[in-house]
Amino acid sequence: MDCPECRAEYRDGFTECSDCRVPLVAKLPAEPASEPSPDPLLDLEPYSGPPTPDAEFVTVFSTGDPIVFALAKGSLEDAAIPIGLPERRPGVPA
Ligand SMILES: [Zn+2]
Repeated sequence: MDCPECRAEYRDGFTECSDCRVPLVAKLPAEPASEPSPDPLLDLEPYSGPPTPDAEFVTVFSTGDPIVFALAKGSLEDAAIPIGLPERRPGVPA
């Protein structure tokens, strides 16, 4: 049991704060919502600048799973990141 005024904790059996004379509550109201630390990744603005034809593609992800690939591709496309696919290398099965 807790006092909603002074937030003192009381053992079970107490019903009133001896200091504040207010009924105890089983659960204190939630603390004022502290700012949730924002996920920095969610704050990223999609790249909207001009395309950079000179940019080199780098491998950021590789998978053999077409479903995972589709998800990764979608994420990149959502962020307006151009995607280049590597040439199929000989000897690598399709
Ligand atoms: Zn109190």
